[in-house]
Formats: sequence, structure tokens, C-alpha cells
Amino acid sequence: MTDQIDRVNERTFESLDPRTGLALATYPIADTADVEFAVARARSAATWWDALGFAGRRTWLLKYKSAIARDAASLAAVITAETGKPDDDAILEIQLGVEHIDWAARNAEKTLKQRKVGSGLLAVNQKAYVGYRPFGVVGVIGPWNYPVFTPMGSIAYALAAGNTVVFKPSELTPGVGVWLAEKWASLAAPHPVFQTVTGDGSTGTALVESGVDKIAFTGSTATAKKVMATCAKSLTPLVAECGGKDAMLVDSDANIAAAVEFATFGAMGNAGQTCAGVERIYVAAPVYDRFVAEFASAVRALKPGGTKTSSYGPMTLGKQSDIVRGQIEDALAKGGKVVVGGLDSLHGPYVDPVVLTDVPEDSTAITEETFGPTVVVNKVRNLEEAIARANASKYGLGASVFTKDAAVGRRAAEKLDCGVVTVNSVLGFAAVPALPFGGTGDSGFGRIHGADGLREFSTVKSLTVQGFAAPVDLLTMNRKARNVKISVLALKLRHGRG
Ligand code: NAD
Repeated sequence: MTDQIDRVNERTFESLDPRTGLALATYPIADTADVEFAVARARSAATWWDALGFAGRRTWLLKYKSAIARDAASLAAVITAETGKPDDDAILEIQLGVEHIDWAARNAEKTLKQRKVGSGLLAVNQKAYVGYRPFGVVGVIGPWNYPVFTPMGSIAYALAAGNTVVFKPSELTPGVGVWLAEKWASLAAPHPVFQTVTGDGSTGTALVESGVDKIAFTGSTATAKKVMATCAKSLTPLVAECGGKDAMLVDSDANIAAAVEFATFGAMGNAGQTCAGVERIYVAAPVYDRFVAEFASAVRALKPGGTKTSSYGPMTLGKQSDIVRGQIEDALAKGGKVVVGGLDSLHGPYVDPVVLTDVPEDSTAITEETFGPTVVVNKVRNLEEAIARANASKYGLGASVFTKDAAVGRRAAEKLDCGVVTVNSVLGFAAVPALPFGGTGDSGFGRIHGADGLREFSTVKSLTVQGFAAPVDLLTMNRKARNVKISVLALKLRHGRG
């Protein structure tokens, strides 16, 4: 926790640099008492934060984003040390995170202020309103792959909606979580609106059980199920942002050079450790050979490693390499072919690019999240078949479509069972704060970002105000026969004539 408490917590863990395996720093594993302490402080801060109103919160959040932007190099250094990703990637992530704080701060009032709605014929004597109230305290549990951008999609929106936040970063990136909370604390707000507690899954469980009013979880589907089971005990609402198995669909008229460029970035960027990264590519038969040849040469040119100029860094979570290896083995055993790399691509914490083709659709390289720089390129007859294959997945996070005809792309998007589609780009949505983000199926539920993301962190308050007595009053124990007759007649006239 960023603020000290007057008891000594003896359990600690080390954050490691995945490039070297060397320890970076030691952090407490916050236990139930530590987490409850933080949540109690957040609850007391919630009254002040709520009373500030949209304008007051906006001022603080804009100060916060400026403070992060001014000190981005120091945050990038922590991201790079803990994840191993190149500096440029870290800076890009911070830029996206800051854009989201800015958007949430500037759009909360417009989205969440009370609005008047029509009261309808039966209630002409009433005025009706819908408003949005904060939950109170939101617990945010984050992953390590984008340790700023990803949790900020919950933190910024929860804060802008009037909640206070207790954040549990991944045990792989505790320093990033502490940096974010310390930056907030440096603004010297009079109450602890945003705190970080460090620790492993046990700290996450303690946060879910601490009585927070909502949990925003980002991580694997398997952990989301555990979190949901814990939430069920106290009926704590949950937004779950989980894994993906995103498909890229390349139509026969697509700009192949552009598709190859985006496929390389989408599949290999951040060492493939992107929830909405490209893991499957379905290419229409007429352009398949050309796509595979150009894609193979593009990924062969990548230079993974641990330097500032590396194309991408190491596997942040060492054991993820075993999953990558298992999927390559399974694909090859089932008849898949290797076009670039193979099992030799795994060395130490690094995985060189792997491109597989002709992989059967029941192979784990197609059915399970890979989360590594390994991608399958399979041939399909046409876009329709590509859509069908893309949809034959338990995941439903994102997808991309490459076609010359934007209208075809938009129609394909309608048919894709997932939360976000990009036409002629990949991951383009991340830079559009107004677009809600989230998935279907095993990719989770609920939305962060955009107006829906602000509403995700709000409870809906409906209100009616009676202006005058109803001319035909039915909300009484002394209903008049005349009024009942009028209402029966009105029912027939209004709804019975179709
Ligand atoms: P993970 O599920 O291992 O851990 C996520 C977080 O949950 C960590 O902070 C961890 O300490 C905590 N945790 C573990 N057990 C817990 C428990 N029982 N109760 C409460 N909290 C617990 O995931 P990860 O390896 O950190 O992240 C990678 C995964 O995250 C991938 O599947 C990736 O696709 C997904 N992800 C999804 C999105 C999205 O927005 N959909 C974004 C980034 C990453």
C-alpha cells in the first residue's frame, strides 16, 4: 500500500526483470487486514470524492493525467524493467492510458448527469428522470501485459464516475501499480481516492472479499471464473475483461501489403502478449500464397531482444513459453506446417516469431489463447468461410477484416461474434477512448472505455416527480369504476387495433 499502516506485514515478494531474472524490488503481499484497511480509507474518501461533483473530479483527474504525462519517462522505465518491453512500447502504452483519463474526465458529466425521459401516456402527470450514481469503492485487479493502459481503462472511468479505487496490480508489475498510486498521492488530494495494494492472487481474493462495491477484473478467463465465484458469495457486481483468440480475416481484394504490416504488428507486437492481438489469420485462397510469403518475410526481419531498439521483448511470464511450446507441438502433431521458426524459436525468456500454416481447427493453437509471438495462417475459400471459422471460438474479444470494400468490411463486422472489430487495421480501437471495449463468451462481459465504460461504474437511479394528480388515477386502493372503464377503453384503442 502506498500509505503505511501501523502493523508489520512480513510476507513479501520480489518483482523481477524478465530479461535477466534479477530482482528489481521487494513489495508486501497485502493480506486481508491490509486490504480491508485500504478499502476502509477508500470508503471514507468516497464521500468527499462524490461531493466534489463532475467538475471537481474532472479538475483532479486532469491534474493527474498531466502529472503522468510530465513524468512519462520515469513510468516507462518501470514498465520496461518489469515487463521487458521496449521503451517505445512503454511510452505508447502510457500515451493511450493518459488519453483515457482525459476522455473519462471530460465526458463523465455529459454521460452521467441526470437526464429527463418521456413519462408516457399513463403517467402524463409525472416528470421522469434517469441518473447515475457511483457504486462507492471499486476494486480493480490488473494483468501485467499492459500494466498502465489496461487497468487505467477501469481506474480512470471508475474515478470519473465518482467512485474511489483500490488497485491490485499483477504480481509481475507491482512497481507500475505503486508508481500510479504514488503519482496520485503526490497531487496531495485531502483524501485517499486512489490506492494500490500489492500482492499475488491471495491479495486479489482479499480485495474481492473486502466488501468493495464492484470489482473490475482484467486477466485470464480461468482467474475470472474464480473471481466471479467469490463475487457471487456477496453478490458483488463484476466486469470481467479476459483473454482472446482474435482472428484477422483477409479477403481476396485486400491490400496485402497493408494486411501484412498490420498482421506483423498485431501478432508479434509486445511478443504477442496482447489480449486482442492477432492469433489466427484466415486468408482467402486467391491471395493466400502471396500473403504467407510476404508475411513470412516481414516477421523474419523482426529482432526480438532486451534492448531499447528490439522489435519486442521477452515473455514477461516465463511459464507462458511452455504454453507456446505445447501449442506448436500440438499443431505439428496434427499436421500443421511451420513456415517461420518452430520449436527452436524458444530460447531463454525470448521467443522468436513462429508462423504456422494448415493447422487443423481443433488444434490448441486455434482453440486456446497463445499469448506469444506465434500465429496460425490458414487458407479459406472466401470471407464467409473466414467469418464462420472466426466465430467457431469460445472467445469473442476482437477481430479484424481486410477488404478493399469498406461496406463489405462493415457487413462482416456485423456477423462477427465479438466485442470489437477493426476494418483495414488492427487494434485501432485502443486509441479511440469513446469506443467501449470488452468481449463475449470466454472473453468476459461488461465494458470499459467510452460512455458505456463510465456507466459500467455507475448504478442507475430512476426518479419520477408527480406534478399534479392523475386525471385517471389507478394507483389507489379507491379506484373509481369510471377510471377503470376509461383505462380498458384506452388499452383497446391504443394497443388493440393492430
Ligand atoms: P491472471 O488471470 O493470471 O491474473 C490477473 C490478476 O488476477 C493478477 O493481478 C492476479 O494476481 C490476480 N489473481 C489471481 N488469482 C486471483 C484470485 N483467485 N482472485 C482474485 N485475483 C486473482 O492474468 P495475467 O496472466 O496477469 O494476464 C494475462 C491475461 O489477461 C491474458 O489472458 C490476457 O488475454 C488477459 N487480458 C485481458 C485484457 C482485456 O481487456 N480483455 C487485457 C489485458 C490482458
